[in-house]
Amino acid sequence: MNISTGLKMEKEICISKDEIMENLIAEGRKQKELHRRASVIRDKNVSRNIYFRGLIEFSNICKNDCYYCGIRKSNNKTIRYCMPREEILKAVEFCNEADYGSIVLQSGERRDKNFINSVVDTVREIKNRYPKIRITLCVGEQNKKTYQRFFDAGAHRYLLRIETSNKEHYKRLHPKEMSFENRKKCLKILKEIGFQVGTGVMVGAPFQTVENLADDLLFFKKIDVDMVGMGPFIPSDQVPLNYQGYNQERNLNLSLNMIAVLRLLMPDINIASTTALQALNPIGRELGLKAGANIIMPIVTPTRYRKNYLLYQGKPCINESSKDCLNCITNRIKSIDLNTAFGKWGDSLHFFKRVKNDSN
Ligand code: SAH
Repeated sequence: MNISTGLKMEKEICISKDEIMENLIAEGRKQKELHRRASVIRDKNVSRNIYFRGLIEFSNICKNDCYYCGIRKSNNKTIRYCMPREEILKAVEFCNEADYGSIVLQSGERRDKNFINSVVDTVREIKNRYPKIRITLCVGEQNKKTYQRFFDAGAHRYLLRIETSNKEHYKRLHPKEMSFENRKKCLKILKEIGFQVGTGVMVGAPFQTVENLADDLLFFKKIDVDMVGMGPFIPSDQVPLNYQGYNQERNLNLSLNMIAVLRLLMPDINIASTTALQALNPIGRELGLKAGANIIMPIVTPTRYRKNYLLYQGKPCINESSKDCLNCITNRIKSIDLNTAFGKWGDSLHFFKRVKNDSN
């Protein structure tokens, strides 16, 4: 099977699934060349601008029990919190002043009325007070009515990781009350409503093969997403998934190669260089940008909450302030000679092309 990248700027690149798999395990010189090629394609299609999304992890209360996740509901070692609205707004104010352009509101998953109403009101208030800020939500699986309410309140992007595009693999990572089909359905609904839609997977997760990862990339292409956030799987000793075969180096390299191959496959989407990369390597996020990513998500969660939003062990930046993260990330981007796109929304270019094509 040949997969077209849809690249208009130069000759179309076709990559077979075998080639994808070969690239995913690239090392040494081959890997360097792959990353270089991906960053050239990034530069040509979405420029050398790196866009900011201030990440506010506003609550770790979760009704799900994913076997890998540190904030799963059965983890009674986690102290639960839900930030009061004024505190969320203060974090947004920081982003506004730092000129981040966009924020992501992320939390554990809840579907009760209180939670949903509160998210809707918060989004609306952010729009009122800080009209320049673009809002991304990442609050899990909801029904169509709720997603529509979020959209109408002023959130225009939504992140929902599929975690793995393989149904059998999904079953091994999640309890039986969680449904792969429903997650897929949610992504479809989000697109129909008009969100810029992002998804992603954990790379190097237990029971996952390189072929699974190649299929994940083809899945992103098939459902035609606008944004992708992928990060290495990192174990936690507070969850049931006690993973023996974990290899930090392998997961880092696979994650970077996933970013690079995805950039070849989908040249004009937004790809995040995620925090988890930095948990595995002090310059992990720079390596993600050098492999073709164009989005960075500085944490703006108030410091006192950070140690309780531990999705995995060794999460970086938990003792830092939002100001520290701003300075640190700015320097990191400059150190690799990319542009800090302060004050820009950095919407997904792919989204606009997709919407234009859909309406033709
Ligand atoms: N509840 C929200 C998001 C919360 S967690 C939702 O469902 O969308 C955000 C992401 O953290 C998850 O999608 C998952 O991919 C990642 N994550 C959780 N546990 C992890 C681990 N052990 N290693 C790496 N990433 C993890």
